[in-house]
Parts: sequence; structure tokens; C-alpha cells
Amino acid sequence: MSESPHARTVGRPVHLSRMLGVFRYSGNALRLVWQTSRRLSLVFGLLTVVAGLLPATVAWVGRFIVDRVVALQASTVVEPELAGLLGLVALEGLLVATLAASQKGIEVLQHLLRARLGHRVNVMILEKALRLPLSRFEDSDFYDRMTRARREASSRPLALVRKTFAILQNAVSLVSYGVLLIAFSPLAVAVLVVAAIPAFIAETRFAGQAFRLFSWRTTEARQQMYLETVLAREDYAKEVQLFGLGPELLRRYRAIFDAVYGEDRDLTLRRGAWGYATGLLSTAAFYGTYAWIVTAAVRHQITLGEMTMYVMVFKQGQSAFSAMLSSIGGMYEDNLYLSNLYEYLDSETPPPRRGATEGPRPGDGIRFENVRFTYPGADRPALDGVSLHLRPGRKLALVGHNGSGKTTLIKLLTGLYEPDQGRITLDGLPLPEWDEAALRQRVGVIFQDFVRYQMLVGENIGVGDVDRIDDEAAWVDAATRGLAIDFVRRLPRGFHTQLGRWFRDGQELSGGQWQKIALARAFMRSRADIVVLDEPTAAMDAEAEARIFEHFRAATADKLAILISHRFSTVRMADEIVVLDQGRVIEQGSHAELMTLQGRYAHLFELQARGYR
Ligand code: ADP
Repeated sequence: MSESPHARTVGRPVHLSRMLGVFRYSGNALRLVWQTSRRLSLVFGLLTVVAGLLPATVAWVGRFIVDRVVALQASTVVEPELAGLLGLVALEGLLVATLAASQKGIEVLQHLLRARLGHRVNVMILEKALRLPLSRFEDSDFYDRMTRARREASSRPLALVRKTFAILQNAVSLVSYGVLLIAFSPLAVAVLVVAAIPAFIAETRFAGQAFRLFSWRTTEARQQMYLETVLAREDYAKEVQLFGLGPELLRRYRAIFDAVYGEDRDLTLRRGAWGYATGLLSTAAFYGTYAWIVTAAVRHQITLGEMTMYVMVFKQGQSAFSAMLSSIGGMYEDNLYLSNLYEYLDSETPPPRRGATEGPRPGDGIRFENVRFTYPGADRPALDGVSLHLRPGRKLALVGHNGSGKTTLIKLLTGLYEPDQGRITLDGLPLPEWDEAALRQRVGVIFQDFVRYQMLVGENIGVGDVDRIDDEAAWVDAATRGLAIDFVRRLPRGFHTQLGRWFRDGQELSGGQWQKIALARAFMRSRADIVVLDEPTAAMDAEAEARIFEHFRAATADKLAILISHRFSTVRMADEIVVLDQGRVIEQGSHAELMTLQGRYAHLFELQARGYR
């Protein structure tokens, strides 16, 4: 991560703005809570004010109790006055009970809000993810931001709200203490405030340092997180065990911790020492004021009741201050989280495209017109100068070395990426002018890295057409065409067998079986008239592949089918073959034509055929 040199040398001038910076996202967090539940938020606010006011009220009533007791001790007629005094005691008891109720209420509300707020933030994050263009997922910084946003979504926003409310509550308390204390001496109020300032400054300073330490460390945290994933996830376990990678990875994990721990320890020690020193200062302030109040009482400047009240108010005022301090300290981290969350939520997403549902020349198929495409951050185009015309009903095979641009061509054709030069049209209309949903309906693609959903077998097929994801008749039909039906029927619970290892009774399939599921998924998309298979049969034996393509041809007779394969026995069956090399089309034609050409295709074909002889 790039570290701004400025950040390390931030000094006093910006100290104030940094102190205020901790409130930067409180507004956003409060708005979130408000939108999550107005009723809960209102009650939360009300209880906070009540809990803030009551301690001073209790101290105030206590003062009258003590004064009455002192007066009654000196008096001879006690009985008639006693009832009133006991009434005051009962009132104080009632106030304390109310205080406890409001504190408990705040706790309960926080519990309820935590669940709802966490859920809301998670939904916001996921909704945003749905609208992100594919290229965002391939941008590591951005992906990182999303991961961080998700990681603490259920706790951070509430933590920030809680601290904001705690500050509010303590501020209300402090004002009410101040109102009582000012009657004794404005100077005492000043002492209360001034004695808290060093602690306040020290605390915000250290919290700021901790905050910056934390944000510099995202890289280390990421590395640690990655190592944790590799060490503890089922899909990595096989290789980690066989290669004996465990101890080495764990050593790296420890090394990162050790490096980070040193800095943490230094900061914690300094923070502790300063905390103690500033704590001593407030203790001194307290006992100084205590001595002053006691002297005033002895000199009859104040009553005994007032003395108890002032001492209590001063003491509680100090704890309210330190409670505020610790809230402020913790807010830095919550702010870090929220700034990250809002950065993510505010990142730009293209609006969903509304456009045409048909083109001016139906039946024209797909045209690539001098298309060039470069991946973000790459220095060479992955496709360059590609022009092709693919007509409905034709079967096209794409051939080329790894990295020659075959998958990229498919990603462009399906609109996952847009070309930086040239254009791609469907039925005579450029892809960006198509309605997104209409376009998606017309194209069915199975990529070589298709997703193996940890769901039921049937659902794994059904995802091919989300409208019919639970349609069992469609599952059977698609599985039959994808040649998956035989092995699915043999599974313990047929189409209702759970796949993958994440959930109970999950069953693992072989690579070839998974590919048959993926093929069935493509056949689910019966409404699509363009079907693309990107190396769907690489893990199957040659015989199964040949059978599948017979099927595939028959099932897609009137459709445009595009196939990527490294097996020339399959490729030769296509009507048209396109040979890609380093992002360019170098040969194009039928098998017979390309063989006569005696170029790259013929060479590769001969090479493979020789292997089989
Ligand atoms: P093929 O499917 O023919 O094996 P690809 O279309 O996947 O080839 O890749 C073409 C080129 O684009 C390769 O050089 C590859 O490294 C690069 N490439 C592929 N995917 C990405 C990506 N997501 N980001 C950056 N470069 C990529």
C-alpha cells in the first residue's frame, strides 16, 4: 500500500481536525440506524437522554435527604417529618430503578439493532456487488475493499452508533452535573473540565496513532487473511497436505504477527503510561476539590447535604469524562471501517442498460468488426483487429494456444467486457444498445471455470435458467441432453443430492461428472439461440466427448453454437474453424479448407493425429 509521508508527520496543526474527524461518519451511522428502524432509534435516543439526566437527579435528591437527616437530628419533634424524609428515600430508590431500567433498555435495544443493522449493511454490500461490472472483481484493491467492508459489517456500524450515543449520554450527564456544581463554584466546573483536557489530548493522539498503524497494515492483514484461507479451507487442504506446505505457511503467518506485534506493544506501553499519568492528574484534581468542598462545609458555607452532592457530582463528572474519552478512542477504528464501507458503496456502477429487445436485421447473428480489447493494467491487447461474422445455425470452433484470446473473445461476445476499439453487433445492433436482460436471455455460456455450486444436483443444473431453477422436469430434460442423467440417477438421492463438502451429506463429483452437470446447465437455457461452450469436455474421455458433440449438434441445430476445444477430433466437426494467435485471427474456414491451406491448423491437426496413430 502506498503510504503518504505526510501521514507519518501529522503534527499539532491538524490535531483538532483529526479530533473532529472521529465524528465524520457518525452522521452516516446514525442515518443507517434511523433508516433501519425509526421506532427503535427514537426509543434509543430517549433512553439515552434519560440515562444521561438521572444520575445528577439522584445526587440532587440525595442532597435533600442528608440535609433533612441533619436537621431532624437537631430537632425534638421527629415523627411528623420522618414520613416526608422516607418519601425522599423512596423517590431516590425509584429514580435509581428507572436509571437501571433505561440502561437495561439501551442494552436490549442495542441487541435488537445489531441484528437488523448488520443484516441491512450486508444486504447493501451484496446489492452493490450485484451491480458491479466484472472488471471490478478483477481489481485487487477494489476486491480488498469489498472484503473489508463485508468482514465487520455486522458489528462496526452499531459500535459507532453506540459510542456516539454514549458520548451524547455522558455529555447530557456532564451538563447536568455542571448545572449543580456551578452553584458551588464556577471554578470547580472549570477544574473538572481542565483536568480532563490532558487525558483527552493524549487519548485522541494515541487513538489516532493506533488508527494510522492499523490502516498502514492492510497489506499485512490481507496477507495474513490469505494465509489463513489457504491453511484452513477444504479446497486447498489437498494440495497443502501433499506438498507439506503447512509449516512454511504457518511460519510466514507467525512472522507477520511478530513484526506487527512489536509496534503494537510499543504503542500500548506508551498509551498505558500516559493513561496512568493523566489519570493521576484527575485524581489530584478530585482530591483538591474534595478538600475544598470539605473546608467549605466545615465553615458552614454549604450544608452537609450539598457537600455529599458536590463530591458525588464531581466524582461522577470525572467518570463521565473518561467514558467519553474511551468512546472517542474507539471511534477511530469504527470510522476506518465506515470510511471503507462508504468508499465501497459510493463507487461507481453503470446503471442497468435499458435498450432494444431486437435488432434491425433479425437472423444476422453476431459480427465482430475490427475489435480490440486490452485488460485493465495489461500492456498488450488480448484481442486485436478481430473481425468475424457468426450466423445462426452455424457451428463455430475456436482454436489456439493457451492465452491466445479465446475466452476473452467469449467475454466480449457476452457483453461482460466492452471493446476499446471496434464494435460487436447482434442482429445488426451494437451490444451496448441491447437491453441487458434481453441480451442475457439470448446467450447461454458455460466457461471452463464454471461454478460448482454447493447446492442440490438439480439446482446446479437449474441455475442455467434462473426462472426454472426448481423445475424438476426441466432438470431431467437438460440432464438427459447433457448426458448427465445416468450418473445422477445413481446418486444416493438423485437430483436431490447435495453437492460439495460444505454442507451435511454433501457428495463430491469427479471432474468429468461436473462437466456433464455444466453441460446440462447449458441445455437448461433452451430459449438461448447462441450457445457457447468453453472447453466443457476437457476432463472427459474422448469417447464421451464425441458422444456429447453428436448430441450437442442435434440439440442446437437452429442455433449458433461456439465451441472452444483442444481436441481436433471434435473441432473438425464444426462448420467453421477460427484459429487465434496472440489475440489475432490467423486462419478461418472449414476443416477441409484449412487442411488445404497447410497453415497453423493443419500443422496442429497433424501433430495431434500423429499422437493417436
Ligand atoms: P485463452 O482462453 O485462449 O487461453 P484468454 O482469453 O484467457 O486465453 O487470455 C488471453 C490473454 O489475456 C492472456 O495473455 C491472458 O494472460 C490475458 N488475460 C486473461 N484474463 C485476464 C484478466 N482477467 N486480466 C488480465 N489479463 C487477462
